[in-house]
Amino acid sequence: MSDDSRTTGKCLCGAVKITLASRPKEVGACHCNMCRRWASGPSMAFDAGKDIKVEGKAHVTAYRSSEWGERAFCKTCGSNLYFRLVEADSYVVCAGLLDDQDSLAFTSQIFIDSKPDFYDFANNTKNLTAAEFIAMYAPPADKA
Ligand SMILES: [Zn+2]
Ligand SMILES: [Zn+2]
Repeated sequence: MSDDSRTTGKCLCGAVKITLASRPKEVGACHCNMCRRWASGPSMAFDAGKDIKVEGKAHVTAYRSSEWGERAFCKTCGSNLYFRLVEADSYVVCAGLLDDQDSLAFTSQIFIDSKPDFYDFANNTKNLTAAEFIAMYAPPADKA
C-alpha cells in the first residue's frame, strides 16, 4: 500500500506535497464565517489527525486564525492546505489537495446555521449547527 495516489496530494504549483498514513474516506464541509472567507465557499476537508507528512514546508505559511488553530496555505500559489489544531498538533486537510478523490464520500456539514442562502448541497449528510458541533467536540471539563 506504499505507492498509492489515494494518500498523496499537492498544492496547485506543486511546491507543497502531502502524504497520508491512511486513505481518507469521509469529507466534511464547514460553513463557518472564517472558512467561507478563507475559501470563498465552505471548506471541504477531512480529518487526518497526526498521520500526515508535509513536504516543502519552506513554502507553507500558517495564519493563526484563532486561539486553537492555524490555517496554512502555499505562499507561492495560495492554495489552502490545512487547518491545524495547534495544541493537539492535529490536521484537518483540504480535500482538494488529494491526487485521487474518487473514493471519498461527503458525509457531514458543520456550522450549517452559518451557511448563506445562495447555495445548498444536495448530498444527504449529517448536519450540525455551531452549537451542536461545539457541544460534541469541546474537550471534557476534566481534561482542562
Ligand atoms: Zn503551491
Ligand atoms: Zn469553518
